[in-house]
Amino acid sequence: MKHKLRHPIFNIIKDITSKSQKEAFVIGGFVRDLILGRPSKDIDIVVLGSGIELAVEVARKIGAININIFKRFGTAMLKYGDMEIEFVGARKESYSKDSRRPFVEKGTLEDDQNRRDFTINSLAICLSEKNFGKLIDPFNGINDIEKKIIITPLDPSITFSDDPLRMMRAIRFASQLNFEIYAPTFRAIKYNRKRIKIVSRERITDEFNKILMSKKPSRGLKLLDKSGLLELIFPELFNMKGIEIINGFGHKDNFIHTIQVVDNISLKSNNLWLRWAALLHDIGKPRTKKITTDGWTFHAHEFVGYHMVPKIFKRMRLPLNEKMKYTAKLVRLHLRPISLVEEIVTDSAIRRLLFDAGDDTDDLMMLCEADITSKIEKKKKQFLNNFKNVRAKLKEVEERDKLRNWQPPISGDIIMNTFNMKPSRDVGIIKKSIREAILNGIIPNNYEQAFEFMIKEGKKLGHNLNSD
Ligand code: ATP
Ligand code: MG
Repeated sequence: MKHKLRHPIFNIIKDITSKSQKEAFVIGGFVRDLILGRPSKDIDIVVLGSGIELAVEVARKIGAININIFKRFGTAMLKYGDMEIEFVGARKESYSKDSRRPFVEKGTLEDDQNRRDFTINSLAICLSEKNFGKLIDPFNGINDIEKKIIITPLDPSITFSDDPLRMMRAIRFASQLNFEIYAPTFRAIKYNRKRIKIVSRERITDEFNKILMSKKPSRGLKLLDKSGLLELIFPELFNMKGIEIINGFGHKDNFIHTIQVVDNISLKSNNLWLRWAALLHDIGKPRTKKITTDGWTFHAHEFVGYHMVPKIFKRMRLPLNEKMKYTAKLVRLHLRPISLVEEIVTDSAIRRLLFDAGDDTDDLMMLCEADITSKIEKKKKQFLNNFKNVRAKLKEVEERDKLRNWQPPISGDIIMNTFNMKPSRDVGIIKKSIREAILNGIIPNNYEQAFEFMIKEGKKLGHNLNSD
């Protein structure tokens, strides 16, 4: 069977190799995605001969400015349009017990296909003039793509023990492509799960994020749990599992609830950090769980969860920047819109949420709606309708008071100039009382009235107006 290779790079490689001894193949993920009809962002070219030499020739032909050569690994990478193209000589690999970095030697195309993780990732397409477009599929990967099966080409236990990252990759592909992991392959993951310890956190997190970004992340999250990997890489999430019944009171399984919330949010948004917020919104529950005479409580779990976020991000090597702050903030605020559901809520409570959530108010509302996992349709409808009303109230107050991303109308400098004060605690107290007065609706959100209010507050604290 011949395959259509549309990207212009393949013809360029064909022309160059037809004039030399080299033979080249496109291999791995690109071929898999081509057959699946999925878009790819990277192309891997394997060469019988020097990968670097071929890359240099290709770069010259297409006038690529950016070519990165990694002599030590015998690879070269260049960008062509928005495609990243990697060239490498065909290789054979062997592993030692304590590292997932193999010992590498020159090999045949067959060796190179043998070292691939799954049959669906072992397909190659020939780029030589004679056989252009011909599929080379020693493990019948085509069949496994059709059957939607993830299976290793060689003994799965050796495959996973050699490079335990492949266990994460198997689950990621199952989640991303909606494939099944072949039972003996999955058993080998269970058996080798503890080997994950030799994989760097960054690589684990890359795969974990790809699971989160799949259409239905609960698929991958459940597989992580079933394989025993979840407990090892994400104990906080693992601790959410299970139901406890005391004195006839039970509570829902917070892990099952959480993965449903992640699925729900994934139907609405591709924002990775919003998905993280969904994953972590109840992460404080196990630590706050208490049985009372009325049943289970998880008092202040949103605050406990909020404080757990930085530690989790740090361990997972996730960015410790505004992405983390955003995620933590949504965890902290995730119950607030519920308190606004009541028939009569004060404008002040609405203003406070707009003030605290700022630009992320819409994302917070999306999270709250995703948090509804009731199986009873009538209840679900009612909750959604409640939030619709909250959204309407937020919109109304926002339009009136313009409080989102609110900047105080009176700055610390104005306070200090007016009263001839040095930076001190009182400046903060005055600033805070102005803010509270605006949020409570005592004064409107404008400069004149805030200034007047400031004078009163300053005087109350015993400060006199600056006489200059
Ligand atoms: P994606 O690009 O969607 O992340 P991919 O399968 O293309 O998926 P890459 O990391 O781009 O993943 O790797 C390209 C190819 O290299 C794979 O298809 C596979 O053949 C091989 N490969 C990647 N990582 C491994 C690994 N850990 N063990 C064995 N083969 C691997
Ligand atoms: Mg790829």
